[in-house]
Amino acid sequence: MIYLDYAATSLKRKEIIEEIMDDFDSFDANPDSTHGLGRKAKKILEEARGKIAKSIGADPKRVIFTSGASESNNTVINAFRGKGIISTNIEHDSILNTLAGEKVTYLEANKEGLVSLDDLKSKISPETKLVIAMYVNNELGTIEPVKEIGAYLKERDIHFHVDAVQAYGHVDIDVDEISCDSLSLSGHKVGGLNGFGILYLRNDLEAFIKGGEQEKNRRAGTSFVMGAYSMGQAFDKTIEEREKIERIKNYFLKELSSTGISYEVNGSIDKSTDHIINIYFPEFKSDFLLTYLDIKGVCASAGSACRAGALEPSRVITNIYDEDRALHSVRFSFGFKNELSDIDYLMEVLREVIK
Ligand SMILES: *Cc1c(COP(=O)(O)O)cnc(C)c1O
Repeated sequence: MIYLDYAATSLKRKEIIEEIMDDFDSFDANPDSTHGLGRKAKKILEEARGKIAKSIGADPKRVIFTSGASESNNTVINAFRGKGIISTNIEHDSILNTLAGEKVTYLEANKEGLVSLDDLKSKISPETKLVIAMYVNNELGTIEPVKEIGAYLKERDIHFHVDAVQAYGHVDIDVDEISCDSLSLSGHKVGGLNGFGILYLRNDLEAFIKGGEQEKNRRAGTSFVMGAYSMGQAFDKTIEEREKIERIKNYFLKELSSTGISYEVNGSIDKSTDHIINIYFPEFKSDFLLTYLDIKGVCASAGSACRAGALEPSRVITNIYDEDRALHSVRFSFGFKNELSDIDYLMEVLREVIK
């Protein structure tokens, strides 16, 4: 199998799971228990918090552990229900679907897949209390101008939330440089365990999951020690792989142009990350291409895996271009297990498709 769908979820890093297995007792107990095993788990949990906080330039006290970025995004939106909200028309489903029914104004991405500060300036109003923008788009890989937006909002009484899931490990993140009030990350997108993420909060918001006093009353639920540890370790590894992943993406683009297949890149190439590329194939429908690739052992996708079945056209591509283009587009996303030879194989399969 050749896995080119890291933006849906990274393959898991077995060596981290092995590290956990080698010291299993230390991860086992409830970190809020006061006995020896509980204290061991607590130590690992807090070390992971320190490590993850450092990776985004944050104070560990401002990092809350959650079940993933979907929950983190929901926590922020829940605190601003009924208020004036501005978001973008290219956000992840955990933002867009959660905003349904709210008073939202949407920034519109241009043909490069980029939103702009000017658009925000023209749509902001005295009612605006929350602005949500993603750092890197999960379908296109575009790097959005969150720093410009943050600088503009800094002096205003408006909460700025950034979904930085796809930026993590691929683009440097510093919460002060972005001037965001909150930021979401997910562990499994960098090869940590699924079901773990963080919410960075500059100032506390109302808890979304209420109950126990974990996370200083900001998020109830027994802590996921293995999840926290795996995310911290996986981040370090992702950072180290950046150059390799960039080489793979550049090689992909170079080789694709020599196959003879007609295509266009969706969104900006210059302002994009190393690990995601989205291609429009005017002559082929994406469901046909994906089925053919699947038969040949290549895993890719037509957009966000959160759109059940993925046969629905991508909302992001539809919003930026049109539905027909969405029905002819495929996302390839790269990660730690990929080698240049995977791209050679993919191109071989694409040459077969043309025939
Ligand atoms: C995957 C993803 C999420 C959701 O993260 P989970 O941890 O799976 O809930 C949110 N935003 C973006 C941009 C994503 O790619």
